[in-house]
Amino acid sequence: MTQPVTLTLNAGSSSLKFSLYDITGAPVQLAIGNVENIGRQPRLKASLGDGMPRVERELSPSEASDHPSTLKTVLTLLREHFPKAHAAVVGHRVVHGGPRFSEPMAVTDEVMAELRTLSPFAPIHQPHNLAGIEAARAAFPDALQVACFDTAFHRHHPKANDVFALPREYYDKGIRRYGFHGLSYEYVSGELKRIAPLLHAGRVVVAHLGNGASMCGILDGRSVASTMGFTALDGLPMGTRCGQVDPGVIFYMVQQEGRTIDEVRDIFYNKSGLLGLSGISNDMRVLESAGVPEANEAVDYFVFRIRRELGGLAAALGGLDALVFCGGIGENSRKIRRRICDGMDWIGIELDHDRNDSGAQVISTDFSRARIMVIATNEEIVIARAAKRLLSEQAGAGA
Ligand code: ADP
Repeated sequence: MTQPVTLTLNAGSSSLKFSLYDITGAPVQLAIGNVENIGRQPRLKASLGDGMPRVERELSPSEASDHPSTLKTVLTLLREHFPKAHAAVVGHRVVHGGPRFSEPMAVTDEVMAELRTLSPFAPIHQPHNLAGIEAARAAFPDALQVACFDTAFHRHHPKANDVFALPREYYDKGIRRYGFHGLSYEYVSGELKRIAPLLHAGRVVVAHLGNGASMCGILDGRSVASTMGFTALDGLPMGTRCGQVDPGVIFYMVQQEGRTIDEVRDIFYNKSGLLGLSGISNDMRVLESAGVPEANEAVDYFVFRIRRELGGLAAALGGLDALVFCGGIGENSRKIRRRICDGMDWIGIELDHDRNDSGAQVISTDFSRARIMVIATNEEIVIARAAKRLLSEQAGAGA
């Protein structure tokens, strides 16, 4: 007997994250892992089910020279461990759905063609996401491929948060505030609905603080405003991305320093943020324990920008009922959570230091007007649920 599963894929420039879900009923995770450094010195890390030792090993260059060969290696591994698994559907994380895609889509040739036209909007991510879809289509020619977009959650935000004050023609050309991390916000918002439905119906700010970082103001489960804009560069400083800067800086670098646009892009995406400001690391754990002024300054700026955006998002929502932390830093760094929340009682949040230190889910005091929570995000399960739903809809349509 076969076991119905969905494979989820998140293809980056030199990485492939994957997970496998049993979709007999509500999706249950069977395996999760990633391959990093594809094409250079590839390395595989995977958890392959309860009680199984974690796999961590170097791959030979030929096992992961590009996305198709990496997918083949991953599939061989998964087939060894789950010989009965049958993937009728593969779900993909796609960074950009453009103005049109506001929900997960079954991938057809026409959808692929439209997604390719969006590559200039996300040149660092989109082509790799699409390479992952192509590789999966070749590996599973009979499976349904489902694209889930990081922009989709924000697609219905108000017009005032969709525009830049540029000549109108640019809006029509698609130069808009899209917002990203939508799969994470969808998961966290859904969890809040399950745990605390009244809060979910209110004014919520979610802070997704990982290597990539953004914040989103959510009203009754719908995105109202977010810190990321046209690309995933805007807003908060991140591991290596700058976050908000005055666009005049770009003119200065090009005109006065003679840099090429590719050099500027490399600085903004890969050499800025926590890494650029500290000159030490993009990793919050390293910076928290470094104990040198440059590391402290980088962390100070990170915290300052989050507090500033919290004020802005609360204004966009007309108040605040809950602040939820997620992402590697949001879920794990009690120091950063404390630094963000302390002294913000004017906005209605009061952190309970003991609860914060103990890793509780609710970390505000009983007297805090707005609740402060930590919810571990899970983008994979959002993709797995969408994949299962579209598979069922297609089966229903075919019946
Ligand atoms: P990505 O955006 O790549 O998915 P993650 O959500 O995994 O990133 O977050 C990675 C960040 O989380 C890193 O800066 C890492 O240092 C930070 N982090 C993870 N655990 C801790 C911890 N215990 N304390 C402080 N920072 C942490």
